[in-house]
Amino acid sequence: MRLSPTQADIEFEQMVEAFVAEHLDPAVQHRVENSMAIDKKTQDDWTQKLAAKGWAAPNWPVEYGGTGWSMRRRHQFEVLMRRHHAPETQGFGFNMVGPAIIQYGSKEQKAYYLPLILNAQISWCQGYSEPGAGSDLASLTTRAEVVGDHYRVNGSKIWTSGAERADHIFALVRTDMTAKKQLGISFLLIPMSSMGIRVAPLYAFNGKRLWNQVFFDDVMVPRASRLGAENQGWTVAKTLLGDERLMVSRVAENKRILSRVQTLLKTVRLKTARWRRNSPKSRFA
Ligand SMILES: Cc1cc2nc3c(=O)[nH]c(=O)nc-3n(C[C@H](O)[C@H](O)[C@H](O)COP(=O)(O)OP(=O)(O)OC[C@H]3O[C@@H](n4cnc5c(N)ncnc54)[C@H](O)[C@@H]3O)c2cc1C
Repeated sequence: MRLSPTQADIEFEQMVEAFVAEHLDPAVQHRVENSMAIDKKTQDDWTQKLAAKGWAAPNWPVEYGGTGWSMRRRHQFEVLMRRHHAPETQGFGFNMVGPAIIQYGSKEQKAYYLPLILNAQISWCQGYSEPGAGSDLASLTTRAEVVGDHYRVNGSKIWTSGAERADHIFALVRTDMTAKKQLGISFLLIPMSSMGIRVAPLYAFNGKRLWNQVFFDDVMVPRASRLGAENQGWTVAKTLLGDERLMVSRVAENKRILSRVQTLLKTVRLKTARWRRNSPKSRFA
């Protein structure tokens, strides 16, 4: 179904385009357009410009710095950002753990983490998968034992994208070894600088570092850094996975890539036609 744009849609588009023209460096646009890597500083600078305008977290409620836009407006904004080759903001923070903190966090956790995410002052990675727990995630065995007002965490996470540059990891850990497996899990927010965390690279077939394995060796984490109730982490994890599924569908980004492929194909066709016109006939006889 194709909806015709309303006057408000057209005005919104003009406002976003004016913002992009004023604030987005054409050199950055060129890199995004051509699928070249964007460094963290460039991504953070752009996120901070969006945050100053109040547009960094379209999906968050207004009271936490979101926009309060309708789904339609959010989709339009996303399509415009991608169409103009703006860098994406960090999904782990804005689309995954941010909404989870909004839903399950304490007052203190919201006041501490949400402004840091909004202003690109913290970056995250996701500690869900383990060597023995992938599709069957609830069988995870990374263990967190209560020691006073801390947990002592031991185990490892695998396929952890971006762990080498993240400040924090949100991790599922087992806090009850005896309960049914989904009922013994808690959700922790852990600084990557904690003593006892080690990050080892994992490389894809093309030699690129795509993932990591993250090892926890007697890592002490305050119990106040748990998101949601103890042993109720599975509920938090499932909510987050729902947001993750929406994010990884990447409708607007895939539209951008498809339109880029169309443009490139048109250019190749034009060049080929020109080359044929200018080549001696005998070559095609
Ligand atoms: C690009 C990329 C980035 C990722 N980043 C992260 C990250 O940042 N953090 C994180 O925690 N995880 C990450 N993952 C891990 C991912 O989300 C999955 O959890 C993980 O890939 C699945 O686990 P596994 O690789 O152990 O596969 P397995 O669980 O071993 O599954 C292998 C295959 O067997 C099939 N299978 C499994 N069980 C059954 C069954 N009972 N019956 C029939 N078929 C079955 C599966 O469908 C699959 O095809 C990432 C994965 C990819 C590809």
